Order: sequence, then structure tokens, then C-alpha cells
Amino acid sequence: MARETIVQGSTPPGPPGDNNDSELRPLRMSEMVGQKDVCERLRIAIDAACKRGEALGHVLFDGPPGLGKTTFATCIPREMGVGVQLTSGAILKSPKDLVPYLTNAEERSVVFIDEIHRLPRAVEEYLYTAMEDFRIDIILGEGVNARTHNLWLKPFTLIGATTRAGMLTGPLRDRFQVREHLGFYTIGELSELVIRNASKLKVNIDRDAAEDIAKRSRSTPRVANNRLRWVRDYATSRADGHVTSAVANAALKMAGIDRSGLDAQDRRYLETLIRVFGGGPAGAEAIAHTMNTAADTLVDEVEPFLLRSEFVVRTSRGRVATVRAYEHLSLQMPEEDP
Ligand code: ADP
Repeated sequence: MARETIVQGSTPPGPPGDNNDSELRPLRMSEMVGQKDVCERLRIAIDAACKRGEALGHVLFDGPPGLGKTTFATCIPREMGVGVQLTSGAILKSPKDLVPYLTNAEERSVVFIDEIHRLPRAVEEYLYTAMEDFRIDIILGEGVNARTHNLWLKPFTLIGATTRAGMLTGPLRDRFQVREHLGFYTIGELSELVIRNASKLKVNIDRDAAEDIAKRSRSTPRVANNRLRWVRDYATSRADGHVTSAVANAALKMAGIDRSGLDAQDRRYLETLIRVFGGGPAGAEAIAHTMNTAADTLVDEVEPFLLRSEFVVRTSRGRVATVRAYEHLSLQMPEEDP
């Protein structure tokens, strides 16, 4: 039986960044939809490690938010029947914050560091010997009496997750034996996810309604779950609880999610780029300032979908709105200079 130890400041009962996701988060890899190749490779690595009685090699997941990095990180220890400690690069400010996780790690157990790209350099360097030799140096005493002691750790698995693989240094990246990139989900995969999760939430849903939700979920499971929850509330309050395509569309429209899956923030981004910056080119920082939001949020959460859906292109001089963006907002594209 898997034992989950959650050690993270005053953590609510769920992984970091978990917004009430726990009721829908798959517990086992067999319950996950999509990412078939990743699942298959991980199953082989897990199976081999278990057969050898060894810790699984360190695993790094990268990919945009909401695609299943934390879900994999919590399913893997369950598959192996070992414990897991969860933390985040954002709260590990110095090596001493990391030490309890490493010294508490039982043999073959998992330490999960979300947003690992946010680790300060000193903490990252402290991880190197822990990952490679299962050893850390600790300083006992103070001033002239201070002595460095080697502390041997039990072999454990570090699972790191990042939305910014490019920000990881080479030495850290190279210490992960397994590296997996999580890509976006197809509409078919998300429809399946919506149907499965509707059943978990005890909601009756028509297949075409599930597809309507999937189509407007930015190819991302977390978004599909959030849309489904809203549609469920709407169906309960405004209809008889049964989610038909008409109910799903009315609910999504009311939430400001349009036929292409853009929400109010996406449209604001496009409107800012077009109205304030004449369609671009404009830098992410400048757009973020005008929208009074953080540039990181735009880059991580808003732009990937707009870029993939070809509403915006990135050029060396900045972001530029495409014809599709103008058409979507029913705005006139400026005439090209002769
Ligand atoms: P990330 O860590 O990449 O930001 P999460 O693993 O927290 O994303 O996933 C967000 C939510 O989406 C989870 O709570 C889970 O319910 C759902 N989810 C993600 N990936 C899958 C998947 N492959 N199958 C089923 N549900 C998933």
C-alpha cells in the first residue's frame, strides 16, 4: 500500500498547486488518459527498478501547466508502493530547507520538487551530490568550531517538474536519468477524460456535450476539469442536472469561453496587442504591464494556447497578432504601408 507523506509548510491535503484537483486526479497510471508513450516508458523503468529492488532513476517532467506532471509524480510512487514527499522549488530558499526532505527520504521513496527551475543556484548545487552519490554535506557547529560532515542518504528518486525546461542548468538536467516531455492532449483524449470525470462527479453527460467541453479546453486536462465543474454547476442550477450539448454550450458561453476556447483573459491579451500596440510587434513584458498582470503568467498560461492556435506569432521583435486574431475579434486589420 502506498504511503503518501506530504511535507510542505502548511500544506492542504493535496500536492502543490492543487486547486481542489484531488477528487479528479488519477491515483494510478492506468487511470490516466493520453500520454501513452510516456506511460509505457515509465512502466518499463518502474518495472525494472522494482525487479532489481532499486530506486527508480531520477525523473524530470517538463511541459506546460496542467498536463499531468504532478499526476505522474504522485502515481509513480503508488505504482512502486513507496512513500512520497512533495515540495516546490519556490519554497526551497536555501540548502537547509532541502535537508529534511533528503534525510527523511526512505529507501526507494520519492521526493517531488515541482517548479524545479525556481530552485536558487545554491540549493541546486546542493542537490548534485544527493542525486549522484546519495550524500550531502552538513555543517555542524558555528564559527571556528564549524565542521563539515558527510551524511549518507538512502537511495531515493528525485522527481522534478518544470514548465521551463530551458531555464534548468545543464548539470542539473544531466542528473536526471529519465526525461519526459508532456505534450498537449487531443480532443478525443479530453472527451474521454470529461466522460470519466463526469462519472466521478456523478453527473450525467451526453457524448457530444463532453466533446464540446473538450474542444474548448485548450488541449489541457486541468482546464477540461475546471470547465466540466462549471458546466455541472450550471446544469444543476439552471437545468435538471443532465448535461446536454445545449446546456454545456450555454454554460461555457456564460463563463465567457467562446467558440474557439478563448476566455476573457485571452481576448484581453489580443485586444491589448491590437489596440494598444497596433497588432505588434510587442514584447511580453510591455503587454503584461499594460494588462496589469505578471509577464510569467502571460508567457506560461496565456501565450502557449494563442501561439498554438495561431492567433499570435512570435518574431525576433516581439509578438504579432495574426489575421485570425483580427477576424476572431471582428476587428479591421490595418492596411500595409505601400
Ligand atoms: P501539472 O503538474 O502538469 O501542472 P497536474 O498533474 O496537476 O498538472 O494536472 C492537473 C489536473 O489535470 C490533475 O488534477 C488531473 O485531475 C488532471 N490530469 C492531468 N493529466 C491527466 C491525465 N493524463 N489523465 C487524467 N487526468 C489528468
